[in-house]
Amino acid sequence: MDGPPGRKPFVFSPAAEPRAGGRCLFCDITSGRAAAHRVYEDARVVAFLDRFPVAVGHTLVCPRVHVEKVGELGEEDLVALFRVVQRVARAVEAALEPDGLNLLVNQGAAAGQVVFHVHVHVSPRWRGQGFTGRRLSEAEARFEETAERLRGAIR
Ligand SMILES: [Zn+2]
Repeated sequence: MDGPPGRKPFVFSPAAEPRAGGRCLFCDITSGRAAAHRVYEDARVVAFLDRFPVAVGHTLVCPRVHVEKVGELGEEDLVALFRVVQRVARAVEAALEPDGLNLLVNQGAAAGQVVFHVHVHVSPRWRGQGFTGRRLSEAEARFEETAERLRGAIR
């Protein structure tokens, strides 16, 4: 769809270019400079609700270190990241009782990466929901209540 290999990849959102204007949205969130509905954080990893969720409880798990790709993560950050992915997945299951989960990394613009700071999507799924990619409205997403429930379910 994007043409032959070697062609410059299509960029979904120019505003999300790597460190556009010297800023990275996820560095701003992990450092606390930008607000987010955080559900978990430790020395290496922060988890917060996606601002444009495809389902209630759609959470992003993000290392504090700024790298674009999974392959650029050091082993300690990689292990820390996926430990938190597991804890968040368990919390989503416990708090929201979905029928399933999507665990997903979009790497590269061609794969749908919009913020070029590696992150793992943990997105609950319910039977019959279909994967339309439609983003929930703020009212549908119930951010405050959902974040509170997930924080309470993190073990
Ligand atoms: Zn960053």
